[in-house]
Amino acid sequence: MSPDERAALQRHRLWGLVDRLLAADGVQGRRLKEAGVGGGSDVTLAGLRGLPFTTKQDLWDNYPFGMLAVPRDQVAAVHGSSGTRGRPTLVAYTRADLDLWAAMCARSLSCAGASPGSVVHNAYGYGLFTGGIGIHQGAVALGATVVPMSGGMTDRQVRMLADLRADVLTCTPAYALRLGEAVAEAGVELPALKAGLFGAEPWSEELRAAIEDVLPVKAMDIYGLSEVIGPGVATECLEQDGLHVNEDHFIVEAVDPSSGVPVEDGTPGELVFTTPTKQALPLLRYRTGDIASLNRGECDCGRTLVRMSKVLGRADDMLVVKGVNVYPSEVERVLLGSGLVRPHYQLVVDRRTPAARLLVACEALSGDPRAELAHRLHESLGLTAEVVVLPAGTVPRTEVGKAVRVVSWEDGGPPLPGLS
Ligand SMILES: [Zn+2]
Repeated sequence: MSPDERAALQRHRLWGLVDRLLAADGVQGRRLKEAGVGGGSDVTLAGLRGLPFTTKQDLWDNYPFGMLAVPRDQVAAVHGSSGTRGRPTLVAYTRADLDLWAAMCARSLSCAGASPGSVVHNAYGYGLFTGGIGIHQGAVALGATVVPMSGGMTDRQVRMLADLRADVLTCTPAYALRLGEAVAEAGVELPALKAGLFGAEPWSEELRAAIEDVLPVKAMDIYGLSEVIGPGVATECLEQDGLHVNEDHFIVEAVDPSSGVPVEDGTPGELVFTTPTKQALPLLRYRTGDIASLNRGECDCGRTLVRMSKVLGRADDMLVVKGVNVYPSEVERVLLGSGLVRPHYQLVVDRRTPAARLLVACEALSGDPRAELAHRLHESLGLTAEVVVLPAGTVPRTEVGKAVRVVSWEDGGPPLPGLS
């Protein structure tokens, strides 16, 4: 589809979305009316940037079903997250939404090299979390064979990977590392495995190299969040040079997180999504909190879909240490890029004193890399951190769900043994 054809499709779909939001008369519809929008035909693609935002706070305020744009009995499934700061976020799907989601995940799997007949080993968690069931439905829609492993029980995962000769692995990047470690410990070969689709948390190019080092895969990034639909919003192709956004269904913008004003392509900003075709919970200009940049240049794979960079971090996850703002993924980049440590780390923010102290817990490949790493963190990020080297195998591994990259030390004993 040419960019012009796609823009015409987006505009047509956007009109439909605006009409549905106005008819539903929920918080989004009322804001549109206040902004002087009386119908879809009042809106253009270029004018989207002038329309009101929707936020996670809106979902919380209208929990659980206050933002539905369809009658409750048309909801075929709910998903959600326990959420940052412990507040659940609930999202809803009609049957048509589930079909769309499956199609988007099938497209993502295919973008990363899966095909009908592929064996997809799916180690994302199954449940309210969208990762497991989203990829599962996508693999079925693609015509692949899905192995619904969910997370955990790593020894059994290694056995199934080998026995069923999976060619595609899907899980969080942190769990891919753990699996790679377990595969080596078991002395198993995985000759059929060729691609991995890893997401649900920000990860760096350096972590990609670490995964490709321990597993025989080309490691691709997949992006999504439950509010927008789940996994399948954007995916890297085999070029591994940015994630193609499925913008026929998810219109993306990047905005300055403080002012909300759109930033130039190539400049990191907060991703904002509009979902013109979703039925149960359509969203207008939803603020994701995820920071990335957009690239409309042509990709060598031939796709014309806009690309987003890997997510640098979530606005919520930014650490402020002695006046320096830093995302955990930036620390990851320095640690793993040094070649001095194993790819397992945890950041401990010691808040027992007013000026928070950052401890970087890692495992050395050899020798004592503490001084060198502290120097590199300061050189690259301006960050003052204490590097703590723990015995090999003792930095916590991710067995289920998303990696815990940052822990807070509020009082009492250290959250990890070996810290002081
Ligand atoms: Zn591409």
